[in-house]
Parts: sequence; structure tokens; C-alpha cells
Amino acid sequence: MKKALVYGAGGFIGSHMVKRLKSEGYWVRGVDLKEPEFTESEADEFILGDLRKPAVVMSTMFSEEMPFDEVYQFAADMGGAGYIFTGENDANVMHNSALINLNTVEYANRFKVGKVFYSSSACMYPAYNQEDPDNPNCEESSAYPAAPDSEYGWEKLFSERLYLAWARNKGLDVRIARFHNIFGPEGTWDGGKEKAPAAMCRKAIQTTKGKQMEVWGDGKQTRSFLYIDECIEAVRKLMESDCLEPVNIGSEEMIAINDFAKMAIDISGKKIKIHNLKGKAFKEKYGHPCPLGVKGRNSDNKLFKEKVGWEPKQSLLEGMRLTYDWIEEQVKLKKDAAKGLKSLGNVEKTL
Ligand code: NAD
Repeated sequence: MKKALVYGAGGFIGSHMVKRLKSEGYWVRGVDLKEPEFTESEADEFILGDLRKPAVVMSTMFSEEMPFDEVYQFAADMGGAGYIFTGENDANVMHNSALINLNTVEYANRFKVGKVFYSSSACMYPAYNQEDPDNPNCEESSAYPAAPDSEYGWEKLFSERLYLAWARNKGLDVRIARFHNIFGPEGTWDGGKEKAPAAMCRKAIQTTKGKQMEVWGDGKQTRSFLYIDECIEAVRKLMESDCLEPVNIGSEEMIAINDFAKMAIDISGKKIKIHNLKGKAFKEKYGHPCPLGVKGRNSDNKLFKEKVGWEPKQSLLEGMRLTYDWIEEQVKLKKDAAKGLKSLGNVEKTL
């Protein structure tokens, strides 16, 4: 039986990867600061631990019988635009994620694991190639000269280079993917760390008919979004391939953010208008400039197709429908739980 170790197994992509590996018959150890939020982990062993600590990485990377066949490194200090682009979390984002990756390469090499997967991000691409919303360039070969638009992107670039250096100098067998906005059920959907797809669905669900839905910026910025199942499929295919260079994993279906908001509104079936909040009005409301990132970004899948022989097929609309339904259920569950707490409070008051 193959054995896999999943770091970040309590997070969105990591918890989905655990499910997938279990369905393929792997024995899986998951590690994270927290357990998955929405369903119980399917890992054979789930260890709560802080991967910034070398001792935690050493003990979890160690396996008594045989080294792990595969290690998936998804753990990172991250969130959506509101977390990455305000600048307030820069020190933590860089420090925490770099420590996790430094520990991972060292102990993966020491314990001679089979292959290591590292999850980089499209945020490492230079901002200067993403200024035209209709024509961004995110070809893998466009990564240098480096100029990511956030410290999060710089850390990803540093860690890509770290894994590649350990591959060159120490023989570590690594696979690296640059994810472009992965979304779907069981992802963070509120609280400030949620990404655009979840935020759009939640806002459309919570906005009442005839009211306005807030969209950050002028809505002309473009992005592409890949559904979680296709992301997991792509990672598994990459791990099985002999592609040793960093490659994009994303969708090429680029959409302007206002059209994306409209997609969520259409799914809701409500009559809702979009209110683009930007500039001074945004600062007055939130106390900091609008955190937007680059003007345009789209995955370029040529290299992945060439090296791995696979490309995603699902439409954005299909993925959004599935995500919308799941978030609608979560909103209801949260409301019911709040009602339950309130009535419990009333009972206590009467006692
Ligand atoms: P996530 O935030 O849901 O998962 C990351 C997990 O890492 C969390 O569960 C968190 O608790 C854990 N973690 C953070 N610090 C830790 C520590 N010190 N010790 C142990 N665990 C720790 O994020 P995700 O969406 O599942 O992303 C997974 C990876 O993919 C990340 O590296 C992220 O940067 C990368 N990525 C994701 C996207 C996306 O759209 N989701 C896009 C680009 C790159």
C-alpha cells in the first residue's frame, strides 16, 4: 500500500486531496494546525501540529516501516485579497510559510521520501505582465525578471526556488504547481480569508431582492477560476508525470469580476444590482485602500498540456452552481445555529 503525507490537510485543497488519496487506496497521514472545518478528515492518522517547528516536521515526516512515497505540501499562511493585499499580514505570510517549506525540504530529504509536491501560486508572476485585463501573460516562461505584486507571491517564488535547489543539489524529487484561484465546496466562505468565488456566492445569497451587492474595485479586473475536483486531478496527474519544472494549474476561462458577480446573481435568481466600491469610498468604509491585486490574470495551460497531457474541462458556471448550493446550505446552518444559541440564552435567562 502506498503511503502519503499531506501537510495543510485541514485546509481546503489539502482536505480534498486526502479524500482523493484515500479513494485511490493510499494510507494517509494528515498534518495541520486545525482539523477540516466542514467534514471530518478521512486521513488514517491526523496530527495537529505547527509545521513552523522543525521537531513537528521531523516527527511527522518520519515513518517507521518505509519512507513516505509521496508528500503533498499545501500548508501556508494565506487568504483572499482582503488578507494578502492589505499589507497587514505580510510579515506573518512570509515568515510562517517560508519556515514550513524550509523544514519540509530538509526532513523530506533526510528521511528519503519518494516525491514532494509543492503548491505555489499564480501570485508569483510579475505584475508588469498583468496590467492589461484583456491580455495578461502568465506563461511559465514569463516568471522572470521577477516582480510579484505581493509578499505572498515573493514567498511562493522563493519557495519554488528552494524546492528546485534541493532537487538539483540533493536529489529531492519535486513537482511544483502554480495554482490559479481554486474554488469549490468546503472552502472558506466568510470571515475575511474567503476568495472571490465564495465571496460572490455568499453576497448573492445574503443580499435581499432589489438591494445592491458590493463588488470591490471597478469590476473590470479579470481572473480565471478552477474547480477543486479538476485541481486535484491535475495534481495527481502531475505527480505521476516526469515534469520537473513549475507548471500552471488553472482554468483558461477568463472572466471580468463584474461578469463573475453577475454569474452568482443569475444563479441566485434574484434581481440584484452590482455596486462597485472603490477609491475613497472603499477607504472610508474599510479604513484601507481597496486590495485588488493585478488588473488581469489567466492561466496558460500550454506547458501543462504538453508535459502532462491533460487539461481541465468543466465550465466555470457548472463549478459555481455546485459551490453556490453548498454555500447556501452553510449560510442556513449558521443562521440555524445562531437561532439555537439565542433561544438557549433565553432559556438560561428564565432559569
Ligand atoms: P487553506 O488556507 O485552506 O489551507 C492551508 C492550510 O495550512 C490551513 O488549513 C492552515 O491551517 C494550514 N497551516 C498554515 N500554517 C500552518 C502551520 N504553521 N502548521 C500547520 N498547518 C498550517 O488554503 P488552500 O486554499 O487549501 O491552499 C493550499 C495551498 O495552495 C497553499 O499553499 C496556497 O498558498 C496554495 N494556493 C491556493 C490557491 C487557491 O486558490 N486556493 C491559489 C494559489 C495557491
